[in-house]
Amino acid sequence: MIDVISFLPAKRKQTSGGWISVNAPCCVHRGESADRRLRGGIKNTDTGWSWHCFNCGYTASFVLGRTLTFKARKLLAWLNVPQEEIERINLESLRHRNIEGILNDRQQAVQPTAIEFEECDLPADTEELTDTAQAYLINRGITLDYPYLSKKGTRTGVVVPFTYDGQIVGHTTRFLDDRTPKYIQDIQPGYVFGTDLQRNNWQTVIVTEGVFDALSINGVAVLHADINDAQARLVRSLEREVVVVPDQDLPGMRLVERAVELGWSVSMPDWPDDVKDVNDAVICMGRLGALLTIMQARETSKIKIEIRKKWLMKKLKKY
Ligand SMILES: [Zn+2]
Repeated sequence: MIDVISFLPAKRKQTSGGWISVNAPCCVHRGESADRRLRGGIKNTDTGWSWHCFNCGYTASFVLGRTLTFKARKLLAWLNVPQEEIERINLESLRHRNIEGILNDRQQAVQPTAIEFEECDLPADTEELTDTAQAYLINRGITLDYPYLSKKGTRTGVVVPFTYDGQIVGHTTRFLDDRTPKYIQDIQPGYVFGTDLQRNNWQTVIVTEGVFDALSINGVAVLHADINDAQARLVRSLEREVVVVPDQDLPGMRLVERAVELGWSVSMPDWPDDVKDVNDAVICMGRLGALLTIMQARETSKIKIEIRKKWLMKKLKKY
């Protein structure tokens, strides 16, 4: 592994979450005051490392076998790593690219639809997940094995980084008070949340509307009640059966129409009256129970989906 730890300032702290904390070099380059409270964090990942500044929000990541990204290069330069050394790290990384990586590149070359997102920053002023934020997630039936953060300040919240291929390309913050807006999001066009949660050997991908729906059953989320063309391409690129589970409300019915247009399966389970979406279902009947109802209610035929939709709209009108 290419050692970046040795380039870090000598003053360091190891946190329980696996971060090595140092005074962040990024903030002063981004119009913020210098960090003197060890708010820069670097963490080793399976395939490299990722940087996150809890002060100014700067993120950067490195994956062995890939070219150094623009943001990783900037970070290394701010850490006073000499330019020749940065180039050496880049070459050393590419030397580790395996046959599979080279084949993937070739495949991407003949497949111009390969989707790319810009690496981006997280909100400023975050910290490791607080007990309150953790309790909120547990209450919603969501497992904690995802790199959530907490937002500090006048409105506290849970920050869910949006990743794609292991890189941070957006985020959403769910505030924990009752004020509006409940969410603040930074989304790139065509982004679908949760592709990184999918495993190679799974045969089905469950498409939901919200981040917490996706997180509670390891599905993906289109983040509104529609699926645009770029999102459809991204979901298709997973090459597996697609089952769309709309929220059980009127906007959700638009999602059903779009799914039919795309030729995907739709599932509208007969959930208890107060269960309106996948996350509600997980809270009510557990992850396995919710998944079972989803798989049992899935329909592929256009006519059967239409009948089911009418049934659901009738049920909605009762309330
Ligand atoms: Zn910073």
